[in-house]
Amino acid sequence: MDIEKIRLDFPILHTTVNGKPLVYFDNGATTQKPLAVTRAIETYYNTYNSNVHRGVHTLSQKATMAYEEARTTVAGFINAQPEELIFTKGTTDAINLLAYTFGKKFIKEGDEIIISAMEHHSNIVPWQLCCEERKAVLKVVPINENGELLMDEFERMLSDKTKLVAITYVSNTMGTINPVRDIIRLAHARKVPVMLDAAQAVQHIAVDVKELDVDFMAFSGHKLYGPTGIGALYGKLSWLEQLPPYQGGGDMIKTVSFDKTVYADPPLRFEAGTPNIAGAIGMAAGVKYIIGIGLDKIATTERILTEYALERLSSIDGLRLIGMAEHRGPTFSFVIGNSHPTDVGELLDQQGIAVRTGHHCTQPLMDRYCIPGTARASLSFYNTPEEIERLVDGINKAMKLLK
Ligand code: PLP
Repeated sequence: MDIEKIRLDFPILHTTVNGKPLVYFDNGATTQKPLAVTRAIETYYNTYNSNVHRGVHTLSQKATMAYEEARTTVAGFINAQPEELIFTKGTTDAINLLAYTFGKKFIKEGDEIIISAMEHHSNIVPWQLCCEERKAVLKVVPINENGELLMDEFERMLSDKTKLVAITYVSNTMGTINPVRDIIRLAHARKVPVMLDAAQAVQHIAVDVKELDVDFMAFSGHKLYGPTGIGALYGKLSWLEQLPPYQGGGDMIKTVSFDKTVYADPPLRFEAGTPNIAGAIGMAAGVKYIIGIGLDKIATTERILTEYALERLSSIDGLRLIGMAEHRGPTFSFVIGNSHPTDVGELLDQQGIAVRTGHHCTQPLMDRYCIPGTARASLSFYNTPEEIERLVDGINKAMKLLK
């Protein structure tokens, strides 16, 4: 991969922060955007901005075509059909959509939903709300010290009461890549559908929903080199057809009368109101951009960066990595002695290095490790070994100051 050439596609990577060249290691929170994405959004607004689905005029037809082409592109990226892909505001919105609609249709008193100890709050709270509403029970698969799911426990948890398994593909805090094939196989053996939170997966791993045979999958555009405010819920059509609407309004109906409203077929049934047209176009541009680079090349580059970062971070005396899973992506959480992660983050920021600090919306995971939070460096293919060296130097400097 010609990394210098690729970095030219991301103007922000050539800026300075606090007088130092930016090292951006907060990709887990959101990735930077290539020019292909910002230009696609600009072109939409400057040349064919219009509402979709209900205009006969040329601009509206052009916008509708671009919006539906965006759906086809994003669906194709995960090997889904366009009608199986609902545009949402992001992963959080996608999971809430599923928790509400699936809960309403399929969850009864005493039923069980299985999540895991490493879930993002987005894949905890919607299910808690659902369980509270339906008087169902939320079960949590524990993890070992390395941050890996205890699969035996998971297998034991599956029962006739289980109605859904909702699990993250990749941990946003520790980078653990979960054995999703085994999870889906074991759940399906009991006829239990599986939803994957792929917010931290699709930008690192080529995901084929047909090959995985996963029932639902949620992901965000902004973690996939696209804009904020857009994401997607994939669902097998046979499931989506059974789900009731999430919100009511324009676009999600076939006909409306005061006696009876007939809902649209999926995916429009779940997209009430004017959608995020620019967002969908931008998300598709991001997807096309990384398809252009190649997911295999991205995976190889990120694997090399992961191994290098792991080696270099492990060599720092007094630094504790949280999560040492065998299968992992380029995300590293660490704590330094008794230092508060915020102090570490601020000292790194002074050196132009952007990392995230805190609980990373995984408070139960922090409780599991008895820590208030971590500093997290999350890498992308556009990062370099030199930037990893800057992080290591930055941590060493911070450690001296924090002593
Ligand atoms: N799930 C995981 C694993 C995440 O990492 C995130 C965001 O950090 C989310 C869900 C929520 O994504 P969003 O804020 O884009 O809705």
